[in-house]
Amino acid sequence: MTRYIFITGGVVSSLGKGLTSAALGALLQARGYSVRLRKLDPYLNVDPGTMSPFEHGEVFVTDDGAETDLDLGHYERFTGVAARNTDSVSSGRIYSTVLEKERRGDYLGKTIQVIPHVTNEIKDFLSIGEDEVDFMLCEIGGTVGDIEALPFFEAIRQFSQEKPRGQCVFMHLTLLPFLAAAGELKTKPTQHSVKELRSIGIAPDILVCRSEHKIPEKERAKIALFCNVRLDDVIPAYDLKSIYEAPIAYHNVGLDRAVLAAVGITDAPEPDLTRWIDVEDRIHNAEGQVRVAIVGKYTQLEDAYKSIKEALTHGGMANRVKVKVEWVDAEIFENDDPSPYLEGYDAILVPGGFGERGTEGKIKAAQFARERGVPYLGICLGMQMAVIEAARNLAGMKDAGSEEFDHESGEKRFTPVVYHLKEWVQGNHKVSRKVGDDKGGTMRLGAYSASLNEGSRVAEIYGTTQIEERHRHRYEVDTKYREKLEEQGLVFSGMSPDGRLPEIVECKDHPWFIGVQFHPELKSKPFEPHPLFKDFVRAAKDVSRLV
Ligand code: GLN
Repeated sequence: MTRYIFITGGVVSSLGKGLTSAALGALLQARGYSVRLRKLDPYLNVDPGTMSPFEHGEVFVTDDGAETDLDLGHYERFTGVAARNTDSVSSGRIYSTVLEKERRGDYLGKTIQVIPHVTNEIKDFLSIGEDEVDFMLCEIGGTVGDIEALPFFEAIRQFSQEKPRGQCVFMHLTLLPFLAAAGELKTKPTQHSVKELRSIGIAPDILVCRSEHKIPEKERAKIALFCNVRLDDVIPAYDLKSIYEAPIAYHNVGLDRAVLAAVGITDAPEPDLTRWIDVEDRIHNAEGQVRVAIVGKYTQLEDAYKSIKEALTHGGMANRVKVKVEWVDAEIFENDDPSPYLEGYDAILVPGGFGERGTEGKIKAAQFARERGVPYLGICLGMQMAVIEAARNLAGMKDAGSEEFDHESGEKRFTPVVYHLKEWVQGNHKVSRKVGDDKGGTMRLGAYSASLNEGSRVAEIYGTTQIEERHRHRYEVDTKYREKLEEQGLVFSGMSPDGRLPEIVECKDHPWFIGVQFHPELKSKPFEPHPLFKDFVRAAKDVSRLV
């Protein structure tokens, strides 16, 4: 029997529901249970694929090609369970399915309403893959009281009623603000949030209370009394130095015990936290620091590159160094010498991105790294920039560029060494796209295999010549220029299995210069750092030792 844990939030947003869900998933796993985590987002976008990373943070791509919320990244990093496209849904997707069914006549002439049609669709979503795991953790985005979220709350209420008693648990995250003038933590917002939840029929079993200050026993007792939960089920959540401390911190305050008690499991094995103890040890006992510059466009918002930042942290843990990430805006040196902005870093990373803005700066960053022997990792657009740089400055193709920029400006200004891919093979079928296609979900998305050259640096790093990595892009490096570039030392060391699509380039005579068309950051975990990030940080560490 699968137990469902529903995680909701109140008082304010950004309380870390995703992280709490992920840490709880890790704890249940540590006790030997299988878990799956899901996110239900109230916004009306069909998926986050078309949302600005400024507003919504990174788009997390799953193996099966879904563009999902960045919380799914947390889930994977903490549990190692690969998310699927059925682990993330938005109001937009639910409504669009309901409306499609209505147009098809599936509802046999009935009047379509939020209850039951929308709520049924949500309940069907919750049931997908039921019984595959011991625990299904479902996080509802937003906060209780949001208009868009109402159908989700109603659906989880109904869902729990339809299951036997004790199969569903409601966990609610709130904030206890500290009033400096009074010198007190305030419980009233939590009481109101619970009241709001109860008014729509949901009585929380467990309250997780975020607080910047220690919560006195007296206040915990008060919350228990006024919110009608047991004292043991009022769980404090304090700020942590690293997110990877969350599983042990939550275990120490009894979160996993409370959840097990709520579903009536009394004979659970004690958790094996070895993995997390090792992770904590590596974070707290780093033996030095490396500085990595991320040269990008969305530098204002760290969340836009969440997985990259985490993957670098994992790479640091593997090498027992702290990775200090500094964000450098590619636009500031577009018409200047980049040296003053890039000197002094132990490594440079150019991440993925869309559109022409900032690309001249990224090309300069690739050139700087190549010429100065600074370790360089180019991801997706970052690989394309490295190829354009080599074409311009090594192969003498002064007007080399990407078709993406010409499409954007509507002018023909570049020789496209990176072109728009219109047809490719996925598994055993052909996919076709046109330039003018809709923006949502039309990229080469999800896991694809690549074959690496025997003896290449990447083959050595991966320890194999067959890999599978996640993609999210429309444009590809053109193999037309392969020979010309390879003569100059930029080797195409990883290709799609049919040999048509370049997946990896590397500079032969360079300490560490690698560009990848895919997103390795999406598969890195603290207890299993991605090989590329592990070796990239190792190279940065070597540089920092030299200076
Ligand atoms: N804009 C580029 C493309 O679509 C790169 C995308 C990315 O970096 N994710 O190919």
